[in-house]
Amino acid sequence: MYTLIDGKKTSAEIREEIRREVAEIRRQGGKAPHLAAILVGHDGASETYVAAKEKACREVGFDSTVIRLEEDVTQEELLDHVRHINEDPAVDGLIVQLPLPAHLDEQQVIETIRPEKDVDGFHPVNVGRMTIGLPAFISATPAGILELLRRYKVETGGKHCVVIGRSNIVGKPVSILLSRKEEPGNCTVTLCHSRTHDLTAFTRQADIIIAALGKARFLTGEMVKEGVTVIDVGITRVRSDKTRSGWKLYGDVDFETVAPKSRFITPVPGGVGPMTIVSLLRNTLLSAQKVIYP
Ligand code: NAD
Repeated sequence: MYTLIDGKKTSAEIREEIRREVAEIRRQGGKAPHLAAILVGHDGASETYVAAKEKACREVGFDSTVIRLEEDVTQEELLDHVRHINEDPAVDGLIVQLPLPAHLDEQQVIETIRPEKDVDGFHPVNVGRMTIGLPAFISATPAGILELLRRYKVETGGKHCVVIGRSNIVGKPVSILLSRKEEPGNCTVTLCHSRTHDLTAFTRQADIIIAALGKARFLTGEMVKEGVTVIDVGITRVRSDKTRSGWKLYGDVDFETVAPKSRFITPVPGGVGPMTIVSLLRNTLLSAQKVIYP
């Protein structure tokens, strides 16, 4: 029988822990952590994400600011906003909602954010520090995955972990984090991707599988061994006539065939997804408390 890793419940617990910590800071006369977000244009998904982040900030007692810029903002204007927030002592964390419109240089924007305020953990300084095991802001999804493994006491030391997908925001960082000499970590990691030959030969050996490739129900029961732990990061919207919205969300894992062989497994929705925003809140709190960069 498998244990369902409940990201919804865990993220609600963490949110409550953060809310209490903020209340305590305020009680002692300190200021609330402050997260600023820059949103360029009117992309529906980006608007939704930023609204969800604002709401989460309110719920835990953070201050939040959203700077809305028009779709045709120039690179220089956008960088000026970033630089201004970099210098604003009232703001602890800054995120720029991605993707940006095509005429803007995303990487330059990321690299203009001061690493000390880069609570998304995308700045090369934070990525580099994470890689060599120095204190760093760890990006939200990998941090959320680690927190789930920690809270469900999934044994990782000495285990073989197969990560599927090598994106900069999930696959690559999670593979580095799980190979670190830390708990959770100490895994032997295999990083698989679209050019991997005979993926099943790897997944069948895996004690832990992190599926982050973005292909609905890709990983099936016959690709895994008994007792595996499966973390499903994928979110794919598929047309469905069985739901009111006309869409259904699927993970990268075929839950029906994989769950019966699993020791631990995350559902989609309700697994990794809800952990993302709380990881961002945690990073903002760490920034306000000057934990990462004293
Ligand atoms: P991506 O879309 O940038 O890249 C996909 C990766 O999968 C690539 O490295 C590619 O090499 C690999 N891949 C593609 N097909 C493959 C195959 N057949 N076999 C092996 N590897 C293959 O990755 P991403 O941005 O990390 O997104 C992956 C999925 O995770 C998407 O569904 C995305 O929506 C989801 N996601 C979820 C969260 C969350 O909070 N739950 C956060 C980020 C991304």
